[in-house]
Amino acid sequence: RLFMAFINENYLKLPGSYLFSEIARRVNCFKQENPDAKIIRLGIGDVTRPLAPAVIDALHKAVDEMAKEETFRGYGPEQGYQFLIAKIIENDYAPRGIKIDEDEVFVSDGAKSDTGNFQEIFGLDNKIAVTDPVYPVYVDSNVMAGRTGDYLEHGYFEKMTYLPCTAQNNFIPELPKEKVDIIYLCFPNNPTGMTLSKEELKKWVDYARKNRAIILFDSAYEAFIREKDVPHSIYEVEGADEVAIEFRSFSKTAGFTGTRCAYTVVPKKVVAYTKNGEAYQLNSLWNRRQTTKFNGVPYIIQQAAAAVYTPEGQKQIKETIDYYMDNAKIIKQGLEDIGLTVFGGVNAPYIWLKTPDGVSSWEFFDIMLKEINVVGTPGSGFGPSGEGYFRLTAFGSRENTLEAVERFKNLKL
Ligand code: PLP
Repeated sequence: RLFMAFINENYLKLPGSYLFSEIARRVNCFKQENPDAKIIRLGIGDVTRPLAPAVIDALHKAVDEMAKEETFRGYGPEQGYQFLIAKIIENDYAPRGIKIDEDEVFVSDGAKSDTGNFQEIFGLDNKIAVTDPVYPVYVDSNVMAGRTGDYLEHGYFEKMTYLPCTAQNNFIPELPKEKVDIIYLCFPNNPTGMTLSKEELKKWVDYARKNRAIILFDSAYEAFIREKDVPHSIYEVEGADEVAIEFRSFSKTAGFTGTRCAYTVVPKKVVAYTKNGEAYQLNSLWNRRQTTKFNGVPYIIQQAAAAVYTPEGQKQIKETIDYYMDNAKIIKQGLEDIGLTVFGGVNAPYIWLKTPDGVSSWEFFDIMLKEINVVGTPGSGFGPSGEGYFRLTAFGSRENTLEAVERFKNLKL
């Protein structure tokens, strides 16, 4: 054996963050050649509206508490403060008839960390399934852990199961043909902006119950659901509390992308097995993982998150979400008016358009950039089945959104 420090070679399988660096490169090139062009960015998945006044008030108040000996706080519970957990259950679950105990909710600094970290408590030989296109964190975190083989041509990792979601199946993933153990689902979906009905979601819950599989359900965009028949939580499906973990976030719901607060629900009924077939609660494994590696979200931030649930907070975040969803409507209509086929944008802040026949995602990116100076995200960056699609987001300002739609009319398609 050679004596030297070795790296985790699984990291070498990752092709690098090609997508956003390549977008930046092309935009910078264009800017150098066209210094006067006013570029509108509708590519990023980050919010632009400020925090709600109720949240700001709570932040100020919590900061003042930290300034006084009597109300100062040091380390808090790793799982989150009870005052926030109680509000989460009371507002996000109880009204939908979902019963969740306080020790089943884990407050964290983001759904990115939690969806990325959760795989740690599973064995390495689980077969993983992801929808395609997909939020890259699910794939990359499993690659880093060594649950996949190499990166193959066409953007697939060996040993990972991809569930294509395209216009052909109306973006509804089909149950896998080979047996899988862990399934990542995200609805409303990033990047497609599409949703599953309760009936469709039930097929996955039934599959998981039958096959002793686990569903990791990311509902970071739950707050954007408008249509009545779209489930807000996977636990609206009977039996889901035996097989599903749910990830939620204040990022898009309440503009916390830079403030950082999220939570994960791990019902005590959800179990996975040792090689000998003994069942263990994921709740206790996740609790062990979090208490070892995580020291909780700042008190100040948890007070800010709790303020989201006050009547003023609820009213204010709804106004902001309405603002973004009006942007979504404007973009969707503008694209349809120039003859493009458009998906999403109804229950999600993402608009997923089909590029014209024969035009690849990156070709469409270049056309948008050069002809109308609007930046979006090529669908192929989210997975092989994203090829031929393009994502625009509703998170821009109204002014920029209207200006972009005005410019759509000048696209030569
Ligand atoms: N999950 C999905 C599907 C997302 O699109 C994002 C952010 O873009 C996240 C999770 C990350 O959320 P957070 O800001 O809570 O880490």
